[in-house]
Amino acid sequence: MTRYQSDLEQLRSAGAIKHYRQVSSPQGAWIKVDGSKVLNLCSNNYLGLANHPKVTKAAIKAIEKYGVGTGAVRALSGNSILHEKLETELASFKGCQSAFVVQSGFIANIVAVQTLLDKEDIVISDELNHASIIDAVRIAQVENKFIYTHNDMKSLEEKLLQASKLKETPRADGREKLILIITDGVFSMDGDIAPLPEIVTLAKKYHALTMVDDAHGEGVLGKGKGIVEHFRLHGQVDIEVGTLSKALGVIGGCIAGNHDLITYYKQKARPFLFSTGLSIPDTAALRESVNILSKSNKLVSKLWKNGQYLNNSLKSLGLDTGNTQTPITPLMLGDEQLARDFSAELFKNKVFATPIVFPMVPKGKARIRLMPSASHSTEDLDFALKAIKKTAQKLKVIK
Ligand SMILES: *Cc1c(COP(=O)(O)O)cnc(C)c1O
Repeated sequence: MTRYQSDLEQLRSAGAIKHYRQVSSPQGAWIKVDGSKVLNLCSNNYLGLANHPKVTKAAIKAIEKYGVGTGAVRALSGNSILHEKLETELASFKGCQSAFVVQSGFIANIVAVQTLLDKEDIVISDELNHASIIDAVRIAQVENKFIYTHNDMKSLEEKLLQASKLKETPRADGREKLILIITDGVFSMDGDIAPLPEIVTLAKKYHALTMVDDAHGEGVLGKGKGIVEHFRLHGQVDIEVGTLSKALGVIGGCIAGNHDLITYYKQKARPFLFSTGLSIPDTAALRESVNILSKSNKLVSKLWKNGQYLNNSLKSLGLDTGNTQTPITPLMLGDEQLARDFSAELFKNKVFATPIVFPMVPKGKARIRLMPSASHSTEDLDFALKAIKKTAQKLKVIK
């Protein structure tokens, strides 16, 4: 047996193999999962754009005109007119100087960090930041890493003080070390929002750069324009990363920033230079998603209305939804097995909501994460609430 096989054997005997449910319908409020129709409450398709008729049509029309693939990396012959139009439209929608579209949100984080920093620079990162940020910092081989307590500005300032000491010694090439503060915008497990104005103030005080990964804020916060709009911090956050795979409904990542930053990335970023860009249908579909959001705030308002309804209803049932500030609605259960049983019981009642357990959240903080969307009707949410109440009583979470 090779090592991976014996590791796999261990997972099997511990009963720790994950099984992935199979979807055989379009995305939406109701989807077909493992053969049965269930109410979907665990998707990041916040606005229902993944299967929006206009978005789908835009992809089909683009395929008819341009085909499917782009044939090469953008730096060679694969730089489609659609890529460039999408970037211009995104920048104008978000109210930033420039935007850069890459293959995924994960890759956007790698591009954002790896292209700017190397082992002699300094990163200061929130302890709950997404795995792709952690990996981006690893790929950049940054040696000076500081982790601050989640959303705790005292802790961030302590780390900035330590970082400033390190910065007094220049790099081997004689240039100044960069300090980059990185935070998620919306933390996906709890739904709380980073205190970005305070982070920006501290960054200015200590001459650090700021980077926010707004994967769960893109299309959600600030009328869909993201966390920078939400806090009215235009021009004050150095690097704004987003994903086009969640609320925007398709796939891809985005970096917004000033013109020089984006121009620099396009000269140097390895995933741009050495990996093919988004396909034609993806890019065309995204242009339509951005167009829909630019024209109307309707879907975003509906999402928030649904989030509030779900959260308030759960609370009035006596359930704990943590300290969410967004439509992400964690149903806090604590025990891991309880969370797994809760999810299985919900599924029997035709409600699809996955358990979130260690290592996604700390041990003892297991939960079901409920993700309402603009596609849900009030009747859908009432259907879910009925199943949740029944399950919570059956498993003795409430009386
Ligand atoms: C989902 C997510 C990503 C990855 O985005 P993809 O487009 O799916 O690669 C990155 N960062 C955060 C905070 C996320 O939630």
